[in-house]
Amino acid sequence: MFSLEGKTALVTGGTRGIGKAIVLALAKAGADVAFTYARSEEAAKAVQAEVEAMGRKAMSFQADAVDFQRAEEVIAEITTGWGKLDILVNNAGITKDTLIMRMSEDQWDDVINTNLKSIFNYSKACVRPFMKQRAGSMINISSVVGLSGNAGQTNYAASKAGIVGFSKSLAKELATRNIRVNVLAPGYISTEMTGQLPEKVMESIKASIPMGQPGEVEDIAHGVVFLASDASRYITGETIRIDGGMAM
Ligand code: NDP
Repeated sequence: MFSLEGKTALVTGGTRGIGKAIVLALAKAGADVAFTYARSEEAAKAVQAEVEAMGRKAMSFQADAVDFQRAEEVIAEITTGWGKLDILVNNAGITKDTLIMRMSEDQWDDVINTNLKSIFNYSKACVRPFMKQRAGSMINISSVVGLSGNAGQTNYAASKAGIVGFSKSLAKELATRNIRVNVLAPGYISTEMTGQLPEKVMESIKASIPMGQPGEVEDIAHGVVFLASDASRYITGETIRIDGGMAM
């Protein structure tokens, strides 16, 4: 039921952290996987090789998620090369945290464009092939910060809350075509980025998580495999928190 054998997937931001774990988990479940990245070409080659070593096909694209035209090109290359696309995971995202008193217009725009406009770009580019197939699963990576807010992250929280409203609307638009749109809201997940935090900050984060520990990237990847597979075929417009109880 969780098998993705014969399926093809695209993940934005697949070179490290959560995105890389999603790429590998989709491949492990049987899918051929394409992914994008912004800067990390070496890392992209390594991830591509890991997927191929699992006996699956892989493609990687240098593509700034903010670039509308590039999203169209990436989807066209995949559908031409592999004949179809079944799964889209909008994962690419950034933070530029600061209190609003100090937040520049650029810090606002960069986060909204990278985290939210990117979702519009890739979802829109996928709608036509998904409609043609009368099937498709879109999974958008939000954050618990989009549900509960966080001081110093007005830009990030707005982008991540925007993803929830966008996804519910698109789910309603596409439900009759058998296209599902769902959201995962990770809590605090250990990645290179979050690994830099001082011990004291880590202790207070752990204290705010009922399950007492940060999550692992695989915890999010497993949620993606579930939402991509037929096991979740009657779920659309949903937001699932994967946060050890942090935001309940
Ligand atoms: P990382 O910073 O570890 O990885 C980000 C990935 O996105 C990289 O592959 C990066 O590519 C890519 N990327 C960044 N900007 C762009 C862009 N403009 N265009 C294309 N690709 C881009 O992030 P995480 O793995 O920690 O986070 C992944 C997602 O999960 C994000 O949406 C984040 O908001 C969300 N999330 C993370 C949480 C956490 O605790 N880590 C908690 C809640 C949500 P490159 O290597 O080329 O820069």
